Amino acid sequence: MPAEIPPVIVWFRRDLRLADNAALSAAVETGAPVIALFIREGSAGGGMPFGPAQAWWLHHSLLALRQALHDRGGDLLFFTGEAATVLVQVVQQTGASQIYLNRSYERDDQDRELARRLKSAGIAVHAFHGQLLHDPSHVRTGAGKPFRVFTPFWKALQALGEPREPLAAPDAIRGVSSTPPSEQLEEWGLLPTKPDWAAGFGDIWTPGEAGARVRLEDFVENGLSEYKSGRDFPARDITSRLSPHLAHGEVTPAQAWHAASGFDNGDPGQITHFRRELAWRDFNYSLLIEFPRLATDNWNTDFDGFAWSFDGALYRAWRNGLTGYPIVDAGMRQLWREGYMHNRLRMITASFLIKDLMIDWRKGEEWFRETLLDADPANNAASWQWVAGSGADASPFFRIFNPTLQGEKFDPDGDYVRRYVPELCHLDRKYIHRPFEAPDHILHKAGIALGESYPRPIVEHGTARERALAAYKATK
Ligand code: FAD
Repeated sequence: MPAEIPPVIVWFRRDLRLADNAALSAAVETGAPVIALFIREGSAGGGMPFGPAQAWWLHHSLLALRQALHDRGGDLLFFTGEAATVLVQVVQQTGASQIYLNRSYERDDQDRELARRLKSAGIAVHAFHGQLLHDPSHVRTGAGKPFRVFTPFWKALQALGEPREPLAAPDAIRGVSSTPPSEQLEEWGLLPTKPDWAAGFGDIWTPGEAGARVRLEDFVENGLSEYKSGRDFPARDITSRLSPHLAHGEVTPAQAWHAASGFDNGDPGQITHFRRELAWRDFNYSLLIEFPRLATDNWNTDFDGFAWSFDGALYRAWRNGLTGYPIVDAGMRQLWREGYMHNRLRMITASFLIKDLMIDWRKGEEWFRETLLDADPANNAASWQWVAGSGADASPFFRIFNPTLQGEKFDPDGDYVRRYVPELCHLDRKYIHRPFEAPDHILHKAGIALGESYPRPIVEHGTARERALAAYKATK
């Protein structure tokens, strides 16, 4: 009788998919039985811990992944603890000696350390590429250094050619006859209960690989043809909304890149523009790899002496969407209601917190990390530093958005505001972004009592702008 082949372990992390999953495909190709597992590492884990909004997503995404593995003959096991300890235990219980994983670039250092520890216990770790368009160590300046400016990064990335063709999902996965005892996902308490503030998420989002596929196909069919001209207008909803799926690795950027090729309306500019945005994500990862403290420390240390001021009431007004600036409030309420915010609004609301309220960008980064379903260690940190002006290839601090003009430019009819700030829904186009300037009879007709049903501006933008510029000058 042939000897039983020892099983191999596939360690799922932020790569909750079967298709274009190089680690899973390689594990299946060995012909060995596969033990697929997910480890709840907590804040001691190598990567950024999942925030409360993402915990909701994670729960549903893991359910979807487990079902997809079941359908092919496999299973998904759940463990809590320090990754190396858990993995060694599973190895001891099962006789496996090989671990397959996809690199999650921000934790490459921890993974290397983990591989060293496991190697000394006789366990081999096989790490694969796929979470980014290209391996960041291949996108380098002529001097072999990482880029700090996006445009040359983008040129260098394009010069590498297309990302590799996505891999198909394995048809069948050979399971193991007996598995070590798994924790119950349902007992992890990832879902909010009292109150269930995520109640509306399920109407909007379908976590999991199948949901990601539908979202991508829908975008290629209905959004991509207008992406370049329409992506800045939040009421039009034409961006892909793939970000939570990308953040959990339910779809790869290579899949999104190649899916875009399937679209041809004679305007390659749309495809290129979309791919360029995907490349921003690669760029931000390359910054995070170079500077792992991106979420906590100013990239540009000139900002270390910046005189931030913190006012709890102003901060709460921002978080709750009660600043008196409709476009800011609409963005913050979209975030709370949907776990998502349109990119233009992220820029406007971040600028408002940092520059109009002079609150440290780290407070904003933290709030977004807790409330965004797509919270991403690289994109969130790099983007906050970009708006603050403290980042690598950042927007200069003195570029301060006027929230009223931004609203009028990017939400000209006020439809986006009306969607998320219902108390303003009867206000017409002329005043929708400036209710504080509307005559009394107009407010009355629209059913608005300023200062009661909707707040007056918590700061006067012109004054706040001067204050911010003076603080910036003093820092320099
Ligand atoms: P699309 O326009 O359809 O773009 C497709 C994909 O390209 C996105 O899913 C995303 O992965 C990438 N992408 C698009 N725009 C950007 C960008 N400006 N920077 C980096 N990657 C981009 N994105 C996150 O994924 N997670 C975050 O935590 C996050 N925090 C942000 C915080 C601030 C203050 C700002 C200004 C931006 C932040 N972004 C973040 C970037 C961007 O807003 C989102 O990626 C985008 O809005 C997601 O919507 P979409 O999937 O419809 O994007």
